[in-house]
Amino acid sequence: MNHPPEALTTIDEKGRRKWVYPASVSGPFRKWRRGLGYFVILIYFVMPWIKIGGMQSILLQIPERRFVLFGQIFWPQELLYLVFLLLGLTAALFFFTALVGRVWCGWLCPQTVFLEEVFRKIEEWVEGDHHERMRLDKGPWNFRKVWKKGLKHSLYLIVSAHVSNTFIAYFVGTEELMSWTAGSPLDHWTAFLFMFSILAVFYFDFAWFREQFCIVLCPYARFQSVLTDEHTIQVGYDQVRGEPRGHVGQTTGDCIDCYRCVAVCPTGIDIRDGYQLECIGCARCIDACNEIMDRVQRPHGLVRHDSLTRFSGERTEIFRPRILVYSVLLVGVLIALFVGLGTRPLLDLTVVRPPGRPFTILSDHLASNHFSLRFYNRSQEDKTYRLAIEGPAGLKLVTPFNPIEVKAGQERRTEAFVTVPISSLHEGKARLRILVYHHRLLIAEKSITLLGPQVP
Ligand code: SF4
Ligand code: SF4
Repeated sequence: MNHPPEALTTIDEKGRRKWVYPASVSGPFRKWRRGLGYFVILIYFVMPWIKIGGMQSILLQIPERRFVLFGQIFWPQELLYLVFLLLGLTAALFFFTALVGRVWCGWLCPQTVFLEEVFRKIEEWVEGDHHERMRLDKGPWNFRKVWKKGLKHSLYLIVSAHVSNTFIAYFVGTEELMSWTAGSPLDHWTAFLFMFSILAVFYFDFAWFREQFCIVLCPYARFQSVLTDEHTIQVGYDQVRGEPRGHVGQTTGDCIDCYRCVAVCPTGIDIRDGYQLECIGCARCIDACNEIMDRVQRPHGLVRHDSLTRFSGERTEIFRPRILVYSVLLVGVLIALFVGLGTRPLLDLTVVRPPGRPFTILSDHLASNHFSLRFYNRSQEDKTYRLAIEGPAGLKLVTPFNPIEVKAGQERRTEAFVTVPISSLHEGKARLRILVYHHRLLIAEKSITLLGPQVP
C-alpha cells in the first residue's frame, strides 16, 4: 500500500498548490451521499423549468428587483420576508453546525456535490483511478496524455455550460435564456459575454480550483469553529482506540497506519491529526477505515461520527445552551416568516406619483394629479377589481380600466388621473384615499396627498 507523507495539505512549504488525487471509496456513507447528491443535482436542473401559478418556481430578477419564490412574487418593499428567509437559513445553518458539524458542506453544498458526483466521475472515467491520474500528470506530454486531457476538459466545458446556463436561468428566467441561446451571439453579445463569464467561472472552479474554494474562499469554513464545541458530532478519529499506530500484529492500537483514510480525503488531510478547518465532513474516511477494519477483523468506528467528549470517554450533551439558543432563534424566525406570509393581503396595491410635474392645472379652478397603479393578484384565481376614490368634494377619477381584471398570480399596471377643484385644496394639498373593491368588499386602500396650486 502506498504511504504518502504524514501530514498532507493542499499547500506545500513554499506556498504552492499540491494537487489532491482522492482515491475512490465505497461504503454506506458514500452510497447515501451519492443518492443525496443526485437528488440535489436533479433539483438544481429541474427547478427553473417548474412553473407554479404560471411563474417560474424560483426567479431572482435583481435588476427588476422582483423575486419569485414558489409562486409568490416579492417586491423590494417586501424584502423583510426575504430577510426573514435568510435569517431562517442562517439560524438553521448555525443549529445544524452546532449539532452535527459541517454536514451541509459534505452532503448538500453544490460545490461538493457537483465536484464529487459529476466532475470527479468524468475524471475517473477518462483518466482512471487515483494512481493512474497521478502517473498521467507526472508523465510526458504524449498523444495519450493530450487525448485524455483534451477529452476530459471538453466534457468539463460541456457540463460547465449546462451548469452555468441553469444558474443564469434562476436570474433571468428560462424564456429569456432560451432566446439568448437560440440567437446568434452577435445579436446578444452582452448576454453572450455574461454567459461565457459564468461558464468560465464554473469551469475554473470545478476543473482547477476545486477544494481550494472550501479551504480558501468559503466564509462558512472560517466561522464554523466558533459554531461547534466539544459536544458537536463530527467526523473524528478515536485516538484512545487507534494509538499507538503500527502494522497488523505489531501494534496495541487499532490503527494500522495504512493511510487509506488520507488517500480518499478530497481535501488531502489526515483526520488522525484532529479536527481541521479543511474537513468538509464528507465521511469518505469513515467508509475507507471501516473497509480496512473489515480486512483486519477489527470493529468498525475507529474513524466515525462522534463528539470530542465521547472520543475522550465522556458524555455528550445534546441540549446545551448554544443548541437551545439556535433552536429558539430558528423557531422564532420560522414562526415570524409563516405568520407574515400567511397574513399577506391577497392584493398588493402600489400607488406612485410618476416623476415630473406633481400636478397639471386644467383650468382656472381644476387641477389634475397623475398616479401609476400596480395591482398584484397574489391569489390563485383571476380577479376583477373596482377602483374608487374618497377625498375633498368634487373629485373625479379618470382611468382607462375600471374595473380592472388581473389574472391569478399576475400583476397589472394602469394609470389614473384625479381631478380636484382647486378650491377644495388647503394650502395646495388634500388627502386622497384610493380604494379597491372586489365584489363590493373593500380589500385594499392607499392614502396619498393630492397637490395643486396654492391659492392666496
Ligand atoms: S484508514 Fe483507519 S487504519 Fe488506516 S490509517 Fe486511517 S485510521 Fe488508521
Ligand atoms: S477528513 Fe474525512 S470527513 Fe473530513 S474531508 Fe477528509 S475524508 Fe472528508
